[in-house]
Amino acid sequence: MEHKQGIRTTHGRGRLFDSVLETIGDTPVIRVNNIPTKGATVYVKAEAFNPAGSVKDRLAVNIIEAAERSGTLKPGQTVIEATSGNTGIGLAMVCAQKGYPLVVTMADSFSIERRRLMRMLGAKVVLTPRALKGVGMYKKAAALAKEHGWFLASQFETDANADIHEATTGREIVADFDRSALDYFVTGYGSGGTISGIGRVLRKERPETKIILTEPANAQLLGSGHAQERETNNAPAVSHPAFEPHPIQGWTPDFIPAVLEEAVTGGYYDELIPVAGPDAIKCAQDLAQKEGIFTGISGGGTFAVALAVAEKAPAGSVILCMLPDTGERYLSTPMFENIAEDMDAEELAISMSTPDAQLE
Ligand code: PMP
Repeated sequence: MEHKQGIRTTHGRGRLFDSVLETIGDTPVIRVNNIPTKGATVYVKAEAFNPAGSVKDRLAVNIIEAAERSGTLKPGQTVIEATSGNTGIGLAMVCAQKGYPLVVTMADSFSIERRRLMRMLGAKVVLTPRALKGVGMYKKAAALAKEHGWFLASQFETDANADIHEATTGREIVADFDRSALDYFVTGYGSGGTISGIGRVLRKERPETKIILTEPANAQLLGSGHAQERETNNAPAVSHPAFEPHPIQGWTPDFIPAVLEEAVTGGYYDELIPVAGPDAIKCAQDLAQKEGIFTGISGGGTFAVALAVAEKAPAGSVILCMLPDTGERYLSTPMFENIAEDMDAEELAISMSTPDAQLE
């Protein structure tokens, strides 16, 4: 968009897209202008610009295409995955476009919007009891795959996860900051694909950039220092003892995924800073109300940590913060609890301020 003088103009993307899948990635890095950032310049990478609204669109298309290339996924074969929602929504988009049936297992604690979006995109959603946590939905997906001969997407173990963040998300960051300092990069983790893939790229291409990882204050799996017990195929054997249910959907399942392990053993982060759920929600609301940037609870949590980093960082530091998805995915969650449906006193007063007000 240009706006030299007068009205803004745009020029199109200069290409026609062969399918919705070609529109994944190349998400914008946007400067934060109105929220005080303690002398630092803070940018956000807004993954809501992906076609199905989250960072997981990248992994979804790559899991399917890597399996097509290797022949492990046959034409028309059913795909199955355990997901906290965004991977399922991304896979549902990809499977709709490519013609694969999709079954998703998801704990019944994740937002209602997620189930309905997946079903809207044509997927079948099998709910698992929240008491069985992430490991429960994971084991259900594995059992269904075995029983029916379905293709298990395995986001928590597959190389296709971090590889796509190395090939796309990480490359985009390096390209966009080509002429700019990048002092800190801040992200959370779910499967760990984002941190492991981007970590590979930044450690090589921007060794001066400090990488900050975050996790929920009441579920500090990495912070606890307690190793994850695994099956021989790298799957989690049991729920991690440091896990507690937390409101930051999409972050920190009740196990340390194998994909995340690369970031731990590879030393891809310089600091681990926990964040509390209410702070995450407050920051997501601030981003919406003060910047017009709509993100979910995990984006709010990452931004809260970016602000904490800004506070300690030398003046003039440049910080990049991942925003994994859109806020619209959280209408039924605590993020919208204090956002009213009915008119409040101020809105009623506005309505009554013209004489033709028609109120019952
Ligand atoms: N935030 C949200 C809302 C997510 O759905 C996810 C993925 N589950 C993440 C963050 C973390 O991304 P990754 O799996 O790449 O670690």
